[in-house]
Amino acid sequence: MTTFAEQPADILARLEQLRQADAPTHGGHVLSYVYDSGLAELDELAAAAIRMVQPVNGLDPTTFTSVAVMEREIVGFARDMLHGDGDVVGSVTTGGTESCLLAVKTARDNWLAAGGVGQPRLLAPVTVHAAFQKAAHYFGLVLDLVPVPPAGVVVAADLVARFGDDVALVVVSAPSYPFASLDPIEKVAAACLERGIACHVDACIGGWVLPWFTDVPPWDFRVQGVTSLSADLHKFGYAPKGASVLLQRGRDRQRTQYFATTRWPGYPVVNPTMLGSKSAGALAAGWAIVHALGTDGLAALAASCEVSTQTLIALVDEIEGLRVVGTPVGPLLAVATDEAIAIDRRVDPHHWADQVREHGFLLQLQPGLTQADGTHLAHTTHLTVTPVTEHVLPELSRALRAAADEVRGVPPVTSEQVLGSLPTEIVADLSSPDAGPLDSATAYGLLEQIGLVTPGSVGAPLPDRMAPFLALIEALPASLTERLLVELLARLVEPA
Ligand SMILES: *Cc1c(COP(=O)(O)O)cnc(C)c1O
Repeated sequence: MTTFAEQPADILARLEQLRQADAPTHGGHVLSYVYDSGLAELDELAAAAIRMVQPVNGLDPTTFTSVAVMEREIVGFARDMLHGDGDVVGSVTTGGTESCLLAVKTARDNWLAAGGVGQPRLLAPVTVHAAFQKAAHYFGLVLDLVPVPPAGVVVAADLVARFGDDVALVVVSAPSYPFASLDPIEKVAAACLERGIACHVDACIGGWVLPWFTDVPPWDFRVQGVTSLSADLHKFGYAPKGASVLLQRGRDRQRTQYFATTRWPGYPVVNPTMLGSKSAGALAAGWAIVHALGTDGLAALAASCEVSTQTLIALVDEIEGLRVVGTPVGPLLAVATDEAIAIDRRVDPHHWADQVREHGFLLQLQPGLTQADGTHLAHTTHLTVTPVTEHVLPELSRALRAAADEVRGVPPVTSEQVLGSLPTEIVADLSSPDAGPLDSATAYGLLEQIGLVTPGSVGAPLPDRMAPFLALIEALPASLTERLLVELLARLVEPA
C-alpha cells in the first residue's frame, strides 16, 4: 500500500479552493477566452471522453488506433462543413496557435521546395492574429503587416500590391479577432491563385460558427485559391482547450507539414504536429461533442450567437458615446469611443470595461495601435458572444448601459498619468537601440516603480482597473512593454 505525501481529498480540496479564484468559465459573465455552450450534458460527455483516453498517448495512432479514428472523423466533418472536396486533408492540432504555426511552416517548406530563395515573407493585414507573428518569429519569415482602414477590413488591392516572389504565405481572417472583420477573401485568394502564392484562411474563431451565420460571403474552401484553413474546436466547437483543426488543400502540399526522422537509434518519429507525446483528451472530447451536436446542434447554437450578437450591436449603437467598430461578421464585436460627439458625452471603452466589471461582467480591453503608415487604430473593448449570452442578455444589457452612464465624459487615461513616476529619460534610455537587453532585475524594478508589482508579494492578480495598464502598454515602446510583460508573467510562476 502506497502512502501518499498528501491525501487526494486534501489535494482536491486545495484545487477547489484555487479554482474559486478563477474567472467563471460558465454562465456568460466572461466575454472572452471561454466558449460555453450552456449544455451541461455536453460538458459531462466531454469529461467522460477525456477520462476514457486519459492514459493514451496521442503520439502514435498505429499503437493507439482510437486516436486515428477520432481524428479522421473530425477532419471529415470539418471538411464537409467547410466545403472541402476529396483533395482537402487535415489534422487535429492542440489549438489555434498550433494550427497557425503549422500552416506557416507548411507554406514556408513548399515555398522552399518550389525554389524560393532568400528569406520568405508572410503577408497579412495588421489585424491577423498574433499567432502569425509568433509563427514568423519561430520559422524565420519576414513579417509584412498591411495597415487597415479604421473599420478593420483590409483593402484587397493593398495586400495584392505587396505580392512578390518572396511571399510564401498570405493570411486572411474569417473573421479577425480584434474587430470581427471579414477580410476580402475571394479577391485575395483569386490573386494568390493567379500568382501561385499560398493563401491561408484563419477561421480559428469563425470556423465552427460562421457556416451557419446568414449572409456571409464565401470564405472557406468554396473559394478557389484558399490553400489552408484553421478552425478551433475549442472555440465554437465547444470542446475543452487543446483542440483545433488544420485543413490543407492538396495532399502533396500537406505532407510538408509532417516531420519525420529515422536517423536516431530510437523509434521512427513521424509527427504531423509540433508535439511528440501528447494527450488525446481534447481530441476525444471534441470528437464526442461533434458527434453529439452534429450539424443541427451546431446550427442551433450558432443561431443563438447570431441573435445575441445583433442584439448587442444594436444596444451599443444606442449607447451615447460608444460605437461598434466596422461591421462585425461572427459572434464577436469591438467597441470604441464615438468621436463624432462632444468630448464630454464620449465614453472611453476601457473605463467602460472596467466599470462593466463592477457590474459583474468581464470584457476584454484591446490597446490602440499605430500602424506602419502612421495611422492609428483606436483602443477598443472586445466582446465574444456565446450561446449562454442569450441567458444573461437582460442583465448584461443593464450592465453595459449603466457602466456607460457612470463613466461618460471621463477622459481616457493619458500616457503622462501612467508614466508619472517613470521619468521619460529612463524610458528613452531603455528603448534606445544601443541599450542592450533589459535584465530581469531592472525589468522588475521598473514594474515596481510603475506600481504593477508590490515588493515581497507573491503573484500578481489583475489590477482592479485595467484602463491604466492598457494606457501603459500604449505609452511605452512595444519592445520595452513586451519585455516588462515577460517579466511580470515569468515572476508569476517563480517559486517564492
Ligand atoms: C483564438 C485565435 C487564434 C489562436 O488560437 P489559440 O487557440 O488561442 O491558440 C488564431 N486566430 C484567431 C482568429 C483566433 O481567434
